[in-house]
Amino acid sequence: MSEINIKEEEGKKSLNFIEAFVESDLAAGKNGKRIQTRFPPEPNGYLHIGHAKAICLDFGIAERYNGICNLRFDDTNPVKEDVEYVDSIMEDIKWLGFHWENVYYASDYFPQLWDFAVRLIKEGKAYVDEQSAEIIAQQKGTPTQPGTNSPFRDRPVEESLDLFNRMNQGDFEEGSMVLRAKIDMASSNMHFRDPIIYRIIKHPHHRTGTAWKAYPMYDFAHGESDYFEGVTHSLCTLEFEVHRPLYDYFIDLLKKDDDYRPRQIEFNRLNLTYTVMSKRKLLQLVKEGRVNGWDDPRMPTICGFRRRGFTPSSIRSFINKIGYTKYDGIIDVALLEHAVREDLNATTPRVSAVLDPVKLIITNYPEGKVEMMEAINNPEDLTQGSHEIAFSRELFIEREDFMEDAPKKFFRMTPGQEVRLKNAYIVKCTGCKKNEAGEIEEIYAEYDELTKSGMPESNRKVKGTLHWVSAEHSLPAEVRLYDRLFTVENPSEDKEKDFLELLNPDSLKVLTNCRVEAELQHAKPYDNFQFQRLGYFNVDPDSNSEKIVFNRTVSLKDTWSKVKDK
Ligand code: ATP
Ligand code: MG
Repeated sequence: MSEINIKEEEGKKSLNFIEAFVESDLAAGKNGKRIQTRFPPEPNGYLHIGHAKAICLDFGIAERYNGICNLRFDDTNPVKEDVEYVDSIMEDIKWLGFHWENVYYASDYFPQLWDFAVRLIKEGKAYVDEQSAEIIAQQKGTPTQPGTNSPFRDRPVEESLDLFNRMNQGDFEEGSMVLRAKIDMASSNMHFRDPIIYRIIKHPHHRTGTAWKAYPMYDFAHGESDYFEGVTHSLCTLEFEVHRPLYDYFIDLLKKDDDYRPRQIEFNRLNLTYTVMSKRKLLQLVKEGRVNGWDDPRMPTICGFRRRGFTPSSIRSFINKIGYTKYDGIIDVALLEHAVREDLNATTPRVSAVLDPVKLIITNYPEGKVEMMEAINNPEDLTQGSHEIAFSRELFIEREDFMEDAPKKFFRMTPGQEVRLKNAYIVKCTGCKKNEAGEIEEIYAEYDELTKSGMPESNRKVKGTLHWVSAEHSLPAEVRLYDRLFTVENPSEDKEKDFLELLNPDSLKVLTNCRVEAELQHAKPYDNFQFQRLGYFNVDPDSNSEKIVFNRTVSLKDTWSKVKDK
């Protein structure tokens, strides 16, 4: 079920619960009234729209309270990480319009984390366990049953120190031993039952190479990195709520005798209908060629949305509408599309394109004559001016805008009926020509020269207005139409079927025969337009001098407004 939580527009809005915490910390004079956040992605994939939610919060809080937000790469698992991801993450954050103060890497703290681990061993608060991960998991117990102590729990400090050193020198195989914090195997919080804090990984790291073989676990690296950097508010998603006591436990051990301490606050993750948001699954889609790369316009990644024509402001406005809460849910993707439409409606020039062209001949229009018609760029914003579109005897209109035997309510092109050609004349259809298979080859109409757009007669009542392009003056184009990537609202919920079985086989339709008005010859990749009557489209970087390629960003039909008005 979709759960929607729309907030008041920015400006009017009340504080969200995180801002309220921040304000109360400021009022209490905590941390010298300093505000510092961080955005901590693991560089193991491209950022998705869920990350945009975290980014808007981390950077937004810093902006709002005159603090700073740093970008920290949480690069503690070399097996899955790569600089390709580091670069893309930076590009995406900048594109969204945010600026970090510093770039940090958790791997920069490996020496400090190592020293802290050694200190814990020396203080009897950590030990090397030589059991397998499976055995350790079995000994954890259950939430209602205490765990069992490892036989290595009370080994001498020197032994643990020696083994820990040799773990890092490469003397032992991956999985043969780990370093565990010695806390409480009977704790009601499972995360306190001697959590693993270091493991052996022999894969080279994208920054530190082969210098390390022992790598800290998330729970050991994250809070400590926050502390080393001076983070005041460590904002993360709800699944880390149960980790918070452990976060605080390590901070307490690290903490100097001053006022400063980072505080972890959790909020709900963004889930969207008809897509998946896990990096593992997105990576699988890319690797198996189910989509055309991370920036495939069907992907919920930031670069996918960028390629599709979504704008930074539309994504930020969407995030602002959904807000931050303490309970998980799934947001209707129609709300995101609504935000995109709202933004593009205000900003994009209107142009004409015919996706499925059929020829329309204006039989009483002089051959060889060309008129340049004025087309208002954006009726929502007249300051955007106008451009000219060529009108001539032979035009293209959409095949579906003609019917030979039309029902009464068909207000488009049909013999004997008048329609308006947008920005041009009122024309009356006189007939058509069909091929042997019965397909329409040409449509005929006569124009009334007194009805030119802007002339008094042009006010004559006609029910339909059609878009068109001049056959001779228009340009060939390819248009890519996108539909939902998955056939069901929540593909991750289905326990029976693998998510790949739920992919929508019709999520991409490529139209290679389209015509667009000549105005578009100078359009650059990523430029946004509204194609009259069809929707919002942008130029894909696949375009070349021969053919412009467009993506349909969203159609004009706003399914969200319908949902909202119910
Ligand atoms: P995945 O589980 O898909 O790999 P992740 O949470 O491990 O994602 P990170 O790179 O660790 O991804 O995430 C960086 C930050 O973004 C974290 O603070 C995380 O909580 C936040 N984040 C990730 N996914 C979402 C989401 N869907 N909604 C909101 N915040 C998210
Ligand atoms: Mg993570």
